[in-house]
Amino acid sequence: MGGTPRLVDSHAHLDMAEFDADRADVVRRALAAGVVAILCPADLTRAASLPAIAGLAVEFPTVLAAAGVHPHQAKDFDSSHIRELGELAARGDIRAVGEIGLDYYYDFSPAGLQQEALRAQLAFAEGAGLPAILHSRLSGSDIIAAVDGAEFRRGGILHCYTEDWATARAMLERGFFISFSGILTFPKAGELREVAGKVPLDRLLVETDSPYLAPVPYRGSGRRNEPAFVVETARVLAGIRGLSLEDLAGATTRNFAGLFPFEKTGGEC
Ligand SMILES: [Zn+2]
Repeated sequence: MGGTPRLVDSHAHLDMAEFDADRADVVRRALAAGVVAILCPADLTRAASLPAIAGLAVEFPTVLAAAGVHPHQAKDFDSSHIRELGELAARGDIRAVGEIGLDYYYDFSPAGLQQEALRAQLAFAEGAGLPAILHSRLSGSDIIAAVDGAEFRRGGILHCYTEDWATARAMLERGFFISFSGILTFPKAGELREVAGKVPLDRLLVETDSPYLAPVPYRGSGRRNEPAFVVETARVLAGIRGLSLEDLAGATTRNFAGLFPFEKTGGEC
């Protein structure tokens, strides 16, 4: 079947206020653009976040929900969030724990508290049998240490990847998929494109990280990013890998479906 390649957006913050006016339309536009699944992480420290994602997941079988406390909000993390994760997991309302992780670039929460929140949520995910959606910025070695320290073996996704090849390789060994965002399309991202060229094809994913990081050619227009734009990142990644867009889309969508079986997509494109 020709036409639009089937793609998955492995990370989109459709809970954010930027989507309050047209959340469902954004998902419909993505579907029309061939985006057959969207993973949406809710942040448990923001009251409006989970209801927004849960509502979409009910309306659209192609929206998959995750939940966790983001490293930026780690200073607000406490044991009530683990209890909430337990309830969500027991009801089958979330497919992963995330996004969780470390961010030493923005440093919105002290590193020690970030590590504590990450450890507790990884331990929960391991016990619940759920994959993790990890965020890592300038914190590659501590992310590896946290995964090892928690004896976390469920794997998951390292989202919006910006770390080096050594970190990618270590996380691949630990069962993670590596997801690339619109950053891959930015002119200055040469080193990241080199990393993207080395990740095994069966561990690659693409994402938008909407509403942030609009890919070229939308970048700089002040335009909000949205899942329908994931094709631009896929196109660049296909070029790096010497693949057709269709083959790259097929591989990343298959990878995602292996990790998170979603509503049947009618097979390959
Ligand atoms: Zn993130």
